[in-house]
Amino acid sequence: MGLVSMAGTALGFTSRAWSAGRRPPAAQRVGSQIPSWPTELRRLSSGVYAYTQASGPGVDNASLSNAGVIVGPDGLLAIDTLGPPIHAKAFKAAAESATGRRFNRVVNTHHHRDHTNGNCFFAPVEIVSSDYTRQATIDEGIPEHPYDNRPQWQAGMRELKLAPPTTTLGGGATYRYGGTVVEVIPNYPAHTFGDLMVYLPELKILFAGDIAFSYVTPAGHNAQITKWIDAIDRINRMDVDLIVPGHGPIGTKKELADTRAYLELLVAETRKRYAMGMSPGRAAADLPLGRFAAWTNPERNAWNTVRLYAEFAGTLKPAQDLPAQNAAVAEYLALQRAR
Ligand SMILES: [Zn+2]
Repeated sequence: MGLVSMAGTALGFTSRAWSAGRRPPAAQRVGSQIPSWPTELRRLSSGVYAYTQASGPGVDNASLSNAGVIVGPDGLLAIDTLGPPIHAKAFKAAAESATGRRFNRVVNTHHHRDHTNGNCFFAPVEIVSSDYTRQATIDEGIPEHPYDNRPQWQAGMRELKLAPPTTTLGGGATYRYGGTVVEVIPNYPAHTFGDLMVYLPELKILFAGDIAFSYVTPAGHNAQITKWIDAIDRINRMDVDLIVPGHGPIGTKKELADTRAYLELLVAETRKRYAMGMSPGRAAADLPLGRFAAWTNPERNAWNTVRLYAEFAGTLKPAQDLPAQNAAVAEYLALQRAR
């Protein structure tokens, strides 16, 4: 057993090299076509790793996001830092153990806390984001008692503090980590109004952030959903073999096509119910989701109908409309219980 897998085992994850040509690793499939996937630091290429967090059917995917690592001679680049301290620390320890190096830079793909709360455990390093993401990270802050409903995530919570991005990019940027060219590419509005992606053109690997959700219901609570489809089309025009989504197993453009198909169906079916004067919560419960009904966290459909109603009404703002979204989720859940 090598040093990497020993350290991994001690921390409760596995670390395996991915070397099966250009094919993505097969996630474990159960029953339907929805896979389960592990918590692991997976080597995608020389000096490139993806860190996924276990999820799949029957697992609440809230706050279970993915991250990435690019290895340079002088240090590591983190792509997102996860949310609860226990997750951020496990990711950081896995990467440092596997590479023997420390982090010297973070890129936040967007401001959501499951991608940025962990920043404080990587600081003091440069933390790069879009202008919008930095401001939204500051505006939303960290709640007084985060993850209160997850007792198993409480370790290290007192150390959690706000560490907003230190560098903002109006456009993109290119870094070089050893032989790896790392392009940071803005692609918004999409999942938020400040999404960045990390693209490795020579390796054809894309860290898409939450523009890509695979096998879990996409969370559109800060999105401009019609433009999100355009953002996916921009990825489809790129030379990409492997996509690390913000949530879900490592995949390809095939899984991204599923995200796009869900969003297209969502827009078309929500538009009909908006025209009928149906409430957003009822519309979410009434959506004919087909194969997407099996994706976890279906209550996010109610966030998404609220955002689309605002788009259709011409009142959409970048910030989340929390009261409207909470009301829609409550109505959605009540209708589901009554079925
Ligand atoms: Zn997000």
